[in-house]
Amino acid sequence: MSQGFDYDLIIVGAGVGGHGAAIHAVGKGLKTAIVEAAEMGGTCVNRGCIPSKALLAASGRVRELSQTEHLESMGLRVGGVQFDRQAIADHAANLVANIRSNMSNSMARMGVDVIEGFGRVLEAQKVAVKTASGEQIVTAENVILAPGSVPFVPPGIEVDGKTVFTSDDAIKLESLPPWIAIIGSGYIGLEFADVYSALGCEITIIEALDKVMPTFDPDIAKIAKRVLVENRDIETHAGVFAAKVTPGSPVTIELIDAKTKELVETLEVDACLVATGRVPNTKDLNLATLGVEIQRPGFIPVSKDLHVMAGDTPIDHLWAIGDATGKMMLAHAASAQGIAVVETICGNPMTVDYRSIPAAAFTHPEISFVGLTEQQAKDLGTEENFEVGVARTYFKANSKALAENETDGVAKIIYRKDTGELLGAHIIGIHAADLIQEAANAIADRRSVQTLAFNVHTHPTLSEVLDEAYKRTLAGAH
Ligand SMILES: Cc1cc2nc3c(=O)[nH]c(=O)nc-3n(C[C@H](O)[C@H](O)[C@H](O)COP(=O)(O)OP(=O)(O)OC[C@H]3O[C@@H](n4cnc5c(N)ncnc54)[C@H](O)[C@@H]3O)c2cc1C
Repeated sequence: MSQGFDYDLIIVGAGVGGHGAAIHAVGKGLKTAIVEAAEMGGTCVNRGCIPSKALLAASGRVRELSQTEHLESMGLRVGGVQFDRQAIADHAANLVANIRSNMSNSMARMGVDVIEGFGRVLEAQKVAVKTASGEQIVTAENVILAPGSVPFVPPGIEVDGKTVFTSDDAIKLESLPPWIAIIGSGYIGLEFADVYSALGCEITIIEALDKVMPTFDPDIAKIAKRVLVENRDIETHAGVFAAKVTPGSPVTIELIDAKTKELVETLEVDACLVATGRVPNTKDLNLATLGVEIQRPGFIPVSKDLHVMAGDTPIDHLWAIGDATGKMMLAHAASAQGIAVVETICGNPMTVDYRSIPAAAFTHPEISFVGLTEQQAKDLGTEENFEVGVARTYFKANSKALAENETDGVAKIIYRKDTGELLGAHIIGIHAADLIQEAANAIADRRSVQTLAFNVHTHPTLSEVLDEAYKRTLAGAH
């Protein structure tokens, strides 16, 4: 135990980042406390990854069982599909309660002190917690800030939580509006479009940039647009801003041209989901008194090893992880950062290799990627003087995908032509979120496509989609 401190480590925020750091710290023998103002598990468990995946799982089944032609092509006939909205919502809520309680139990079992209240940093090694019974001051040799993020609601949009809402309310699935507008075509907007369309809602997607799904690789976005949007009851408006959104019945949405700012159209819909990104939850942490300048829209500036920065100087003993650092706003990135900081604290300096962190959208079919996009790889190639190779393979040529009758999809790999190093992989297709892990591990080890091409993959499996892509690089067929 650190001399003169209450703890070796205090973590502010018990989301996936903070929780992962706490578990790792206890494993390393550190006396650890975690401060949480709301619920154990943070966004991911209570309002993010977990409930959204439960809704996607249930609504995905509804979609599957409703696709009669698809089922009949495999010899199946199913009567009309019925579902109970409230029971689907309960499935998500029960899962959340279960996982949250497992996390709380694991904290207690492992001896992590949970301090319920809102934490503020007084000094690098001192935190004030506003608890129900008054302010508690706690000290630790090291402090990790993991306050996470909250939904961003652009100006002009009024949220009432019933007819105009963010993902925080959408995960409750309190209603199935006949016509819902979704503002934003990032992964959160797309996942909810998947849920709502499977459950029979008509959808309008509004995207400010000039094309929907602007962040995906163009080859992936092309297929995604066809299978996730055009084949469904979904219309899209790209290049327009939802400048004014007023709750009610109907909800009115004033769309203005993103460039000219002229009013294009006023939509009247039953509900509106605002999925315009997330902002860090950092404003009341008192960081300014330590000389930390929060970066717009609220990110905590950090060094490569995740020390909080005061200008150009890392603050000893004060660290930040997770969504609040804005590095990669994903649950597994947050916990990887937490583990890296704990290792560094324990004398094994570690940084996070963001290039090998995969990301996925759990739509039907799924989309996943890791590493660089083709353009980023080309830019790096120009900088470092190498050529970029690309290989694509299609799910329609994969035996398992054919057996499943799920042949929409492509895997695209990006690599250095000189060394063969795998730089990126982008997949859309059934189980893409699981398939990407192999490429992520390969990137983490900086492996070359030529060596990956000799790894043996089980036949017949979807993993052969990537196997085939690696093998194509040997044949030079790209
Ligand atoms: C709808 C949706 C779906 C998502 N799906 C996925 C997915 O499939 N996969 C994925 O990887 N990511 C997903 N995410 C993103 C993921 O939820 C976040 O990246 C992750 O939760 C970030 O973890 P964190 O620990 O940084 O912060 P958070 O999970 O936001 O946790 C921060 C915690 O800190 C607490 N806190 C904040 N300030 C203080 C304070 N001063 N004192 C005390 N406590 C404080 C908060 O109450 C909160 O509990 C999804 C997000 C959403 C919204």
